[in-house]
Amino acid sequence: MHRDLDISTSRILIVDDARENVRILASILKDVASVSFSLGGQDALVKASSTLPDLILLDIEMPDMNGHEVITRIKDDPRTAPIPVIFVTSHADVEDEETGLRLGAIDYITKPFNPSIVRARVRNQLMLRAYAKQLEDLNIELERLATTDSLTGLANRRAFRERVTLELRRLDRYGGEACLMMMDLDHFKAVNDSYGHDAGDAVLRAVAQRVSGQLRETDTFGRLGGEEFAVLAAGTPVEQGAMVAHRLLSSVREQPVIWNGLEIAVTTSIGMTALRAGDGSIDAALARADQALYASKDGGRNRVEVLAA
Ligand code: GH3
Ligand code: MG
Ligand code: MG
Ligand code: MG
Repeated sequence: MHRDLDISTSRILIVDDARENVRILASILKDVASVSFSLGGQDALVKASSTLPDLILLDIEMPDMNGHEVITRIKDDPRTAPIPVIFVTSHADVEDEETGLRLGAIDYITKPFNPSIVRARVRNQLMLRAYAKQLEDLNIELERLATTDSLTGLANRRAFRERVTLELRRLDRYGGEACLMMMDLDHFKAVNDSYGHDAGDAVLRAVAQRVSGQLRETDTFGRLGGEEFAVLAAGTPVEQGAMVAHRLLSSVREQPVIWNGLEIAVTTSIGMTALRAGDGSIDAALARADQALYASKDGGRNRVEVLAA
């Protein structure tokens, strides 16, 4: 376990109908973490779901709702389910302990309280909780890194393909229309050759930004690699998609990219096709868009070609 995890910012919710118990526990734990309390089960459920504490100390016998019912509801709600619960019992009742553990409690504290034991048990659970949260954060970050192009922040090839696959399934099931565009910068090698790789990178970022600015939230924009980008315009018929493509073309060429005081002219070619139910695999549609892109390059670049499905 990571001993260097910081638990001082952790939040503990103490739930007990007896104010005296709350007072004692709070004073035992005040130097461990920040503490709040509920004097009944109903209030505990409200506080647990609104504040999502890192740990709950739960009394079993309470008049409005007993601890077993409280923990059952906490574990039933996916938002509160991961919060560890320690039961607070007045007597070492074996049956109670078994029930509590079966319902998802992670540990026990018995009254009368032994301050150093209480602190040790609470610290252990807070440490485990902090560790679990750190892992969760790392996983989210890993997922982000695995799906994002680091130069532009756009969806990478893998994420883009996944998104198109999902859209194709949606079309198969519910029907509708979507457009797929492939976009490749024109004579981009010349940018690198004339101004250097950093200038090339700046152009790629600028293009990513310009095109993003033209798209809707329901569109997906990805960098497939090098100076090749792709757009999935969901819910978009071909005629409308062609208009979008021309708008993207204009947004790229309208202004030169300014880099280190230099003006770098940039244009792109676009190949577009409809993504249709029955396309089978996305590769068929991507191949059509690619074919349209090559037609656009052949036709002189800085233009849009549409290849019907
Ligand atoms: P075309 O109009 O036919 O597409 O010509 P082009 O020069 O754009 O195409 P080509 O495939 O010959 O060259 C692509 C260039 O893109 C070559 C490569 O150095 C550059 N490139 C690929 N990825 C990156 C990158 O991440 N950063 C930079 N700066 N350049 C890149
Ligand atoms: Mg009680
Ligand atoms: Mg190119
Ligand atoms: Mg290329």
